[in-house]
Amino acid sequence: MPERIETESRKLLGRLRKALATSSEGQDRLDKVVNVIASSMRTEVCSIYLFRDEDTLELCATEGLQAEAVHQTRMKLGEGLVGRTARTKRVVNTADAPSAKGFRYMPETGEERYSSFCGVPVQRLGDALGVLVVQSKAAREFSPDEVYALEVVAMVLAEMTELGAFVGEGAALSARHTQPVMFKGSIAQEGASEGQVFLHEPRVVVTNPISDDPDVELQRLRDAVDTLRVSLDDLLSDNKNTDTEQKKVFEAYRMFANSKSWLARMEADVENGLSAEAAVEKEQSLFRARLSQSSDAYMRERMADLDDLSNRLLRILTGQGSGAADMPENPILVARNIGPGELLEYGKALKGIVLEDGSVGSHATIVARAWAIPLVINAKGITREALNGDTILVDGEQGIAHLRPDDTVQGAFRDKIAMLTRAQERYTSIRDQPAQTKDGVKLSLQMNAGLIADLPSLEGSGAEGVGLFRTELQFLVRNQMPRRAELSALYSRVLTAAKGQRVAFRTLDIGSDKVLSYMKPNDEPNPAMGWRAIRVGLDKPGVLRMQLQALIRAANSGPLSVMFPFIAQYDEFRAAKAEMDKAMDRERKLGHPLPSDLKVGAMLETPSLGYAPDAFFKEVDFVSVGGNDLKQFFFAADRENERVRKRYDTLNPAFLQFLSNIVGRCNTHETPLSFCGEDAGRPVEALVLAAIGFRSLSMRPASIGPVKHLLRRVDLGEVRGIVDASIAAGDQSVRRAVADWLVYQI
Ligand code: PEP
Ligand code: MG
Repeated sequence: MPERIETESRKLLGRLRKALATSSEGQDRLDKVVNVIASSMRTEVCSIYLFRDEDTLELCATEGLQAEAVHQTRMKLGEGLVGRTARTKRVVNTADAPSAKGFRYMPETGEERYSSFCGVPVQRLGDALGVLVVQSKAAREFSPDEVYALEVVAMVLAEMTELGAFVGEGAALSARHTQPVMFKGSIAQEGASEGQVFLHEPRVVVTNPISDDPDVELQRLRDAVDTLRVSLDDLLSDNKNTDTEQKKVFEAYRMFANSKSWLARMEADVENGLSAEAAVEKEQSLFRARLSQSSDAYMRERMADLDDLSNRLLRILTGQGSGAADMPENPILVARNIGPGELLEYGKALKGIVLEDGSVGSHATIVARAWAIPLVINAKGITREALNGDTILVDGEQGIAHLRPDDTVQGAFRDKIAMLTRAQERYTSIRDQPAQTKDGVKLSLQMNAGLIADLPSLEGSGAEGVGLFRTELQFLVRNQMPRRAELSALYSRVLTAAKGQRVAFRTLDIGSDKVLSYMKPNDEPNPAMGWRAIRVGLDKPGVLRMQLQALIRAANSGPLSVMFPFIAQYDEFRAAKAEMDKAMDRERKLGHPLPSDLKVGAMLETPSLGYAPDAFFKEVDFVSVGGNDLKQFFFAADRENERVRKRYDTLNPAFLQFLSNIVGRCNTHETPLSFCGEDAGRPVEALVLAAIGFRSLSMRPASIGPVKHLLRRVDLGEVRGIVDASIAAGDQSVRRAVADWLVYQI
């Protein structure tokens, strides 16, 4: 092996390692770091600024500036050159700092004497932790080699900050991941629960950022990359992964994994003194920073691929996070976002869910709601802060998550849980009572379901049957297409569990955010308005036919209710119904028993169907309004985009008048009508839906108690009067008027 040339940064890291080895106290470590850097790089000043809280940086150590300024000088994110470095996560390198954009004069530091400034972000996986700064009197820009050396040191500082190496007496900074933090997000599913953090993607911890021996580290890196390549080859040659789109992704991964420049950059980082895992993370941090700034969708996708690849490599190197982490007791899932399929895999064992992104209208949320698992979305920053096993309280009533709460918060929270339990008990007492208003209007409250596991709620909740059975959930929990016999056995179990109560099976509604891992994904610009639900069923009828046959067989001479999702025009209903007729014919010919009573309905989820010809309303056996989709198309506001979704209230008179029109048309033709979107389960919304004429509502089981409780206490004629008056007054939503009136009723 050729003799290794000792690079500047390796020398620097070597000195740092030695200096740090003799110190175990946080502040002392920081002081040594600045001292070693200033003397090695021959700069008059070296300082480290770390985040004190989300947007305040604090001078934590300095060589060269006034010692009294340490832990006194603070600046906001974006303020001054230091703040600019942290905000942009980019190096700021200038020969004339006082005239540079954003310079802020801080008299207590005595820095006015220094002309040149180089600030390097201390960041870990795109998460800014602080800024490393060198300054000198001579007006000069720092060379690329010097900047590179600082970046390597900043990487080490980032790992050490993450590990809490700079915490301790005198350091005045608390360790990361130890303090109580409250996250204010939005409500997606009410309820409250206490448990332990269970990260969907656990973070890898790098404990050895500086290498002892570059040769050993290089070998580790190359071995890990080899293992990665082999595992990708295996994935590609695996017969099960025949999906071409998936193959394309793996091929892109393999291309990156074989990319010489990626490996070369990591090798250079190792040559310069980083350990193999720190080198992988350094490159990953760079991608993440670029990812967050790129607006090109294609580039973002490719960089996301690289990010995933880096994670795989880190897992190989550290052995962490391979295999699913054990679920703690009372697991609270914490994730950036989650798809319905993944959530179904975790199952009902989850006690709560907190997402950084997420959306009230997504199907993952619907699953969480169906299972009554408290869910908070938009909890920004939680995946960075939370560690597996941390105590966490999810307050779905207020959309708040308390991470590592102190005793007072925990005590108050437990009182809240007890109170909610008492309220739930109150609902149990009216379980067998009818949902009848004071003026004698009787409603039918049914439940939404999608899994066998949901069925026990039928009895517990007092639901009169299943108004919406989302059959796609069964498809989402699997990793291959179910067979007809399996489906028919499953539907038959559902019907048995329903004990003669009606179950409205909705045929497969895939597409949009419901993606089956084993079906070729469609690259569509707007999947919610794309090839989904009945459109797929009619264009490629194989699965629909199999499903209809399975349903007929499951009914086994009993009654059967089937409805088609996303019918936008009469013709689609007729074509779908023709498939049903054919399936019945086929079963008859095969000698199988036919359902004693078959009802074929349509889901009204696009405004167009509200204006369908009379013939449609006459022909269809029942109509079920899918309010989640209908609302998004009525207001042209994506149900998964929190920003726009919240602008439009379901109780907006325009929407209510559209719904009233549907009620009128169904009444004229005596077509049974129900409403099965999420709004049916919200007490005030349910009340208004009843007031405008809906007599059948289908909702998640946990909502039946609260909705029935409210309905039983009101005079529906009076509610109608309030709604009409509010509409006549030109209110943007009738919610206020109804809520004000309710205050005096209950
Ligand atoms: C709806 O759109 O209201 C509905 C019930 O269907 P899903 O939420 O499954 O799209
Ligand atoms: Mg829908």
